[in-house]
Amino acid sequence: MGDVVKLKAGLRKDKRKARAKGRTLCGRGFHKWEIWQKKQFDVKSGRLVTVHKCARCGAQKTTLT
Ligand SMILES: [Zn+2]
Repeated sequence: MGDVVKLKAGLRKDKRKARAKGRTLCGRGFHKWEIWQKKQFDVKSGRLVTVHKCARCGAQKTTLT
């Protein structure tokens, strides 16, 4: 019985660790950018941009097309 509890606790810890690692990378600016929308019209700059979204934290950035 005691072993089962220990195992469960270990699994939970690993999951938390993995998530923390991703957040740390994002916090340092190493986002996992993926193209979200290509050639979207950005009203602010009045130009066509490509929207990138981070697969981990959901942050967004736009680059000029
Ligand atoms: Zn990120």
